[in-house]
Amino acid sequence: MEQRKGRRLILFPLPLQGHINPMLELANILYFKGFSITIIHTNFNSLNPSTHPHFTFHSISENLSESEAAEKDLLLLLSHLNAKCCLPFRKCLATLVSDVSKEPVACLISDPVFDFTQSVAESLKIPRILLRTGGASFTAVLSAFPILQEKGYFPKQDSRLEEPVTEFLPLRVKDLPMINSSDPKRFFKLVHDLTYETKASYGFIFNTFEDLEQHALAKIRKELHIPIFAIGPFHKCVPVTTSTSSLISQDQSCISWLNTQPSKSVIYVSFGSIAAINEAQFLEIAWALANTKQRFLWVVRPGLVQGSEWLEPLPSGFLESLNGMGHIVKWAPQKEVLAHQAVGVFWTHNGWNSTLESICEGVPMICFPFSADQMVNARYVSDVWKIGLQLELGIQRGEIERAIRRLMMEKQGEEMRERLSKLKDKVNLCLRQGGSSYQSLNGLVNHILSLESFVYKNSKVSD
Ligand code: UDP
Repeated sequence: MEQRKGRRLILFPLPLQGHINPMLELANILYFKGFSITIIHTNFNSLNPSTHPHFTFHSISENLSESEAAEKDLLLLLSHLNAKCCLPFRKCLATLVSDVSKEPVACLISDPVFDFTQSVAESLKIPRILLRTGGASFTAVLSAFPILQEKGYFPKQDSRLEEPVTEFLPLRVKDLPMINSSDPKRFFKLVHDLTYETKASYGFIFNTFEDLEQHALAKIRKELHIPIFAIGPFHKCVPVTTSTSSLISQDQSCISWLNTQPSKSVIYVSFGSIAAINEAQFLEIAWALANTKQRFLWVVRPGLVQGSEWLEPLPSGFLESLNGMGHIVKWAPQKEVLAHQAVGVFWTHNGWNSTLESICEGVPMICFPFSADQMVNARYVSDVWKIGLQLELGIQRGEIERAIRRLMMEKQGEEMRERLSKLKDKVNLCLRQGGSSYQSLNGLVNHILSLESFVYKNSKVSD
């Protein structure tokens, strides 16, 4: 823990699990660097302050209606959040900034998906830095969207899905980022806003490391002309804490179950906090897992299977027929699971956090991306870093069983483990004194402190 800096940082996470986790990890990192931390959070997916007693929490009442909060169209949900959070956020931030009883605010760190934070920060004369919770390779593709659109890659045509995207090899057309919505224009607006928001910020923080995404980071630096800080993997930067930012309670039974399994024998299956599948896909996964006769730990989040509460679609007797070879939970302590010696393969949707967590623990992946950045991440895992296999044909039990066999029992799996072991070494090196993330973090701290003159100027303005 470094000496206190007498400066406060205000962090504002987007209230989705994959965005909350890295923002709170970043908060921990900056707390250890000597800053005081204040988190502003929404009532929707509200955070539990008792899990991080060293931070100050302020909740805002954005008052989403019941139907808005239950919105399944992610882009529509984000649009409700943007519309309803702006005013309460402005009010909360104004109060915090003018509170002279506390340390002065050095800057706001927000999620670029919140499209109003730039104008609010500007009006209150607070410098704003962004946390990009996705990878750099994905971000580089987003910045090139105007060109990709001009070249006719969108809307994606079924006949062109396997075609290479020559500007971003080895991506294929099907890998280009997309979030389906009732109005396709919403996604292009989001991408446009993200790029604009980024350019208008005082810096951009990435949860990645140079050795993993050097090329994409260089590209972004060249294009954006704002300071870029690649300081990840966040969860490995600070001493392990027991604090969790999980919105769903983590079922610890999976750790005791894993404790009884042989080394590298278990397939861990989880598709993150948002992805959903239909009943037919759910059954196909269940049968594929059962047919391989391998041990598995499966996260079936309530809401994962459209139209079902939880496990009802499973045929009766299915669970009993596994004879203890499978364990199903609603939500797992994922980082702990991936670090467990019994886990041999991760079947993932390739959300950026899951991808990075798997890399850090040296676990090869079966990739089944659904949406947003996941297709880009999956292609990098399978074709660039060569540490996983993609299910190119969708959820089909034959292909799943083949992929599991190749990763669990064949040479291909071993080769991936060797590559992962080298990447793991690089993770350790980048975080050590003199390593790229270590230096970039110090650069970020100095950058935040250099914004002081800006704050000072502001206090003169508001005096
Ligand atoms: N996670 C977890 N338990 C689970 C599944 C996921 O704690 O059973 C965590 C995981 O460790 C990761 C986050 O939830 O930090 C999911 O983020 P990711 O970017 O992988 O996917 P998203 O949920 O945003 O699609």
